[in-house]
Amino acid sequence: MTSSSRLQTKAMGALLVVMLTMMLVVGLSSMALIRDFSVRSATEHTRTAAEMIRVSLTEAMLNDTIDRRASMLRRLAEVNSLNEARVIRGERVIAQHGEGLPMETPADDIDRQVLASGEPYFGLVGGLFGEEFRATIPYIASSNGDINCMACHQAPEGVALGAVTLTVSVGHMKTAGMVTALFLVVIMGLFGVLSMVFLGRLLRPLVETTQEVRKAARLASGGDFSQRVHSRSRDEIGQIANHFNEMADAITHKLTEIRDHVARLVNTAPDPRANLLEETATTVSGLVKVAQFKQAIEEDQTTEEVFFRISEVLRTEFGMAHFSIYQVDRDKRLMDTVVVDGVLHEEIRWCRPDILEQSTICRAVRTGHAIDGLENRHLCRAFDSEALADGRSYLCLPIIQSGGVGSVVQLVVPPQNIPALIRARPLISAYLREAAPVLQAKGLMASLRESSLKDAMTGLRNRRFLEEYSDSLVAQCKRRQMPMTLMMLDLDYFKTVNDTYGHDVGDQILRELAGIFQAHLRESDLVIRYGGEEFMIILLDTGAEAALDVANKIREAVQAHPFRVAGAELHKTLSIGLAAYPDDAQAFWQVLKYADVALYAAKENGRNQVVRFTPEMWPSGGEY
Ligand code: GH3
Ligand code: MG
Ligand code: MG
Repeated sequence: MTSSSRLQTKAMGALLVVMLTMMLVVGLSSMALIRDFSVRSATEHTRTAAEMIRVSLTEAMLNDTIDRRASMLRRLAEVNSLNEARVIRGERVIAQHGEGLPMETPADDIDRQVLASGEPYFGLVGGLFGEEFRATIPYIASSNGDINCMACHQAPEGVALGAVTLTVSVGHMKTAGMVTALFLVVIMGLFGVLSMVFLGRLLRPLVETTQEVRKAARLASGGDFSQRVHSRSRDEIGQIANHFNEMADAITHKLTEIRDHVARLVNTAPDPRANLLEETATTVSGLVKVAQFKQAIEEDQTTEEVFFRISEVLRTEFGMAHFSIYQVDRDKRLMDTVVVDGVLHEEIRWCRPDILEQSTICRAVRTGHAIDGLENRHLCRAFDSEALADGRSYLCLPIIQSGGVGSVVQLVVPPQNIPALIRARPLISAYLREAAPVLQAKGLMASLRESSLKDAMTGLRNRRFLEEYSDSLVAQCKRRQMPMTLMMLDLDYFKTVNDTYGHDVGDQILRELAGIFQAHLRESDLVIRYGGEEFMIILLDTGAEAALDVANKIREAVQAHPFRVAGAELHKTLSIGLAAYPDDAQAFWQVLKYADVALYAAKENGRNQVVRFTPEMWPSGGEY
């Protein structure tokens, strides 16, 4: 029950109680009043009747017709409304005149009491209200009235000579009292009912308006502002209803405006059936997170960090468990997984692996637009067949960088998660839209950096690379507690090549040489063009012993390699100096210097050989 209807019930209840009490009080008091009135009126009447009887009896005594009093008394008893009329003799009269008639003897205690005391008795007899009124009035001996009683009676002054007992019916009085009380009660009851109806009518607009406002406010707090309050009157209650409706209209209007703007921000059509407040609040908080995401990725260093952040958003904000992020190499038409199911550089899982070798197999890469495999799961034939058999669907969203597909975000869901993904898609797209220019800028920066660290002629890393990464190489070795060996390589008598065949031939030999080096090294080894025809090779996780073997193999390979130049075959040799970290020195540049010293020794010793650094080669024995 609402508080307003409780108020109404309480008011009605209170009114009912007041009415019933008033009816009871009025009923009872009207009955008491009538009873009182009837007693008083009967008293007066019986007094008068008693006086008249006394006068009649006195007259009879004076006229000497007292013997005929019996018939007079009988007739008296027949008087209407008189139930009983008796005259009784007092002791003095009995003593003087004898017992008299049988009816003149005292009949009860009241008679005797009145005769003895000389005081009259008036009272109701029979029931609460009393059906009858009885009066027993004494006749007192007196000498100073109109007639001197003592002239005939031998009795002292003030003694009761006799008494008259009269009984009158007051039943009609009782009925009249009851009727009056009933009438009053009915009138009051009628008044009560009318009051209740009036009160009900008075309270109804308040109660109904309050109930409607409550209901509308409850719905509004949940975001539904469609409810309006019916304005029932022109008073304050009606005004409350009107003000509420105006407020609801204003809020609906403003919220609709905000929702439409917000929907435009995430490129969606607003859903008119959705909860206005909740939908807007959800989208706004989503957009706030997108803005925070944008700020975060702008401050990230690498594209990989950006991709991982996208992965975290997919996992935590959208509850995605299965997804891939692919990076596309447009020049080579390759692609690679950056993140799979939230893990960096994981093996490809949700597509056929051959898309990595030929990126155009990926439909999103080929077409440059989103591939919606939620509706039609067979749209892309590169989707993993096992996942397809499991009933999974996919949505692949390309990220456009520099006018082409730079990366693809593939979302994989079981059938029950499709509706949630459809709802989340605009916001996920908003994240990717923010990520695209940042990825583009970071990619560009990375490739610029990459080119600045490369030697254009041979494609090998250059000296700048060494300057930038030497610290991290040492740190890496320290962390893993592994050695590394540095080799300095220099072609023997290279000057003569230039002098004999020209600079271009010299360049060609240098390029071929780079290929020979790489063919004899692992991916993790670093080849650097240190100077003109001077190279440096860093063998990671390799001590000097093992490095000597590698160096010799390279030396032999170069010696055996025929450089075909200007129709002739040319054979060249090289000398190699070698020093190891941390055995020879703890500082990178010190190791490098020792390798250079060893190279110098190799040249000194006749060239075409590998020399490992020994402390005697550094006569001062001091640090570099
Ligand atoms: P050695 O090292 O055995 O003592 O004799 P070398 O003749 O090789 O002497 P050095 O290493 O001092 O020679 C460097 C020569 O390498 C000088 C230059 O003509 C040649 N050179 C350096 N850089 C380039 C380059 O980029 N292209 C070509 N074609 N030649 C280069
Ligand atoms: Mg040389
Ligand atoms: Mg040289």
